[in-house]
Amino acid sequence: MPSTGASTSPAALADVRGRAYATLLGSALGDALGATVEFCTQSEIRAQYGVLRKIVGGGWLKLKPGEVTDDTQMSLCVARSLAAVGWSPADIAERFATWFKSWPVDVGNTCRRGIARYINHGTLTGPFNEGDAGNGAAMRVAPVALATLADSRLLERWAVEQGHITHNHPLSDAACVLVGRLIHMGCTGQPRERLRREVDDVIVQFPTFRISPYRGLSTAYVVDTMQTVLHHFLSTNSFEECLVATVNQGGDADTTGAIAGAIAGAYYGLEQVPRHWVAKLAPALVREIQDLSGHLFERSPLGHRQPVVM
Ligand code: MN
Ligand code: MN
Repeated sequence: MPSTGASTSPAALADVRGRAYATLLGSALGDALGATVEFCTQSEIRAQYGVLRKIVGGGWLKLKPGEVTDDTQMSLCVARSLAAVGWSPADIAERFATWFKSWPVDVGNTCRRGIARYINHGTLTGPFNEGDAGNGAAMRVAPVALATLADSRLLERWAVEQGHITHNHPLSDAACVLVGRLIHMGCTGQPRERLRREVDDVIVQFPTFRISPYRGLSTAYVVDTMQTVLHHFLSTNSFEECLVATVNQGGDADTTGAIAGAIAGAYYGLEQVPRHWVAKLAPALVREIQDLSGHLFERSPLGHRQPVVM
């Protein structure tokens, strides 16, 4: 039984497929938009851009407009692995290692340490580490959410296992599962109140995630990241406004953008994703994201039950 109560009529499943595509596309767009102002303060952003609403590249990584960073690249490793071999943390780790050796423009410190541990010791998880509460595992969980639609037990297991390849911390685990659940709910057309209730439930369990009053911090600490994403997702009314508000908070803006983009993409769906943003991404990337999202949906418990059209 789908735990999010999704309908499985052909029209409903076609809608889920579109939302799955919007999830991965939204994440790449949030990364590309936010990378311009990664590590900037709000006042620096205001001085230079007023409000940043366009995908213009630049930033500390000197990106071309539409270029994506580690957030999208690591998500693609997870998505390609799931599409190619199903669930295999070893295959995901191997893809992280191959990516890491390709001199990517950016790698987070905790991801770097985790991937180096895998390369040197072959282990798929490190011991608990107080310093592992960064956002690097939550930023790449979206493909796992699509592949587990709409089985929340499976999501919980896979989200945490993929996270532990680089991050072993209860707050990172909780963030991975929450992001995944919100994507499940968005993709299956749940109302905002349902998503808000899910957030509230997690805050009961982990009060440190509470979002009111919003503290305005958007660092790579997963608590700050999640507060920024959740605050802006729940206080805006469109895909575009959610991403614009999130990245203009500055800080780890490509990563808050990537996570907000995945949740908002799932919730608002493809029609709300601005075409002029998509036009900035490399066409090959957009094609691959569409293909992968379709594969992941089809492999998911929900997609498996899609009736065959005779
Ligand atoms: Mn990045
Ligand atoms: Mn980042």
